[in-house]
Amino acid sequence: MARRSRDEHEAYGRPSKRGTRPRTKQRPEHADALPGFVTAVDRGRYTLLLDEGGPRERVVVAMKARELSRTRVVVGDRVDVVGDTSGERDTLARIVRIAERTSVLRRTADDTDPYERIVVANADQLVIVTALAQPEPRTGMIDRAAVAAYDAGMDVLLCLTKADLAPADELRGLYEPLGVQVVVTRPAADADEAAGGRALDPGTVEDVRALLRGRVSVLLGHSGVGKSTLVNALVPGARRATGHVNDVTGRGRHTSTSAVALRLPDADGTGAEGWVVDTPGVRSLGLAHVRVDHVLAAFEDLDEAATACPRGCTHLEGAPDCALDDWLAATPDGDVRAARAARLASFRRVLASRTGATGAPTAG
Ligand code: ZN
Repeated sequence: MARRSRDEHEAYGRPSKRGTRPRTKQRPEHADALPGFVTAVDRGRYTLLLDEGGPRERVVVAMKARELSRTRVVVGDRVDVVGDTSGERDTLARIVRIAERTSVLRRTADDTDPYERIVVANADQLVIVTALAQPEPRTGMIDRAAVAAYDAGMDVLLCLTKADLAPADELRGLYEPLGVQVVVTRPAADADEAAGGRALDPGTVEDVRALLRGRVSVLLGHSGVGKSTLVNALVPGARRATGHVNDVTGRGRHTSTSAVALRLPDADGTGAEGWVVDTPGVRSLGLAHVRVDHVLAAFEDLDEAATACPRGCTHLEGAPDCALDDWLAATPDGDVRAARAARLASFRRVLASRTGATGAPTAG
């Protein structure tokens, strides 16, 4: 599977290669199409980066070709584009293809509304930004975000801010058993009112940067947790970078509710950059679309143990004959068992946040 997806990716990078895609009369091949990366979406106009990292890197504004009118194009999508791809003022290119997505972060408006929206495509990890105090951390919100990430096929990074106000031990204890990486930021020692009192300790910013390098990361966090401060510390001039305005459309000044991909600068000269996707308008992630088996698949050991579960098992605390209980019970007393118990408890708590469910089996 991994091999095949890599081959597809390579084929995508060589748009002139013939015969790799099915063709129809309505869909010409567009052999001259160029690959681009969608960094912003605003009312039918797509901001793309072409020749990323190359000598002719440029920002191009595009619309969708007619044959894609029913297809959603979202931030993070890798697309092929034709038409005027010069990136000059008043030009408009055309998206003709969307590459297969490696991950899809979705949300539902709320848990009972099945209407799904795709937030970001092809992201590697979800960075859940939470303050250690002011406001108090809410584990329910963290759990729900983690479920959405695992369902999407993404890793989870927990970024705890305001470490000057409270210790991180308790939250580490809840999430590290799941394999969640935890990173902590604090204000700079000399942060004062003159600087807005919000400057972050540079060492902690670099700790975060190291975990974002070379990856596409989606940042999620409620207001007041310091997410904007973090984004601005990671990506100086972020505001300016999102203000690409196209004169054809008068658009490109993105509303505060849309996701936008910001390039993480190569601050330490290692040559590895990354992308930070900010999601200002996403205040909650409805989880009606989440599938338990997708979440379970993020945990190889639990997934394997659960193959012995009865059909329709919820895997939650108290679920009848859940094989995860047997998996734990069969582990000899000691450190491994303690670690497994913590992992299973964390997994079940996170999974239960999806619906606020108890361990009752589903109907049928
Ligand atoms: Zn089970």
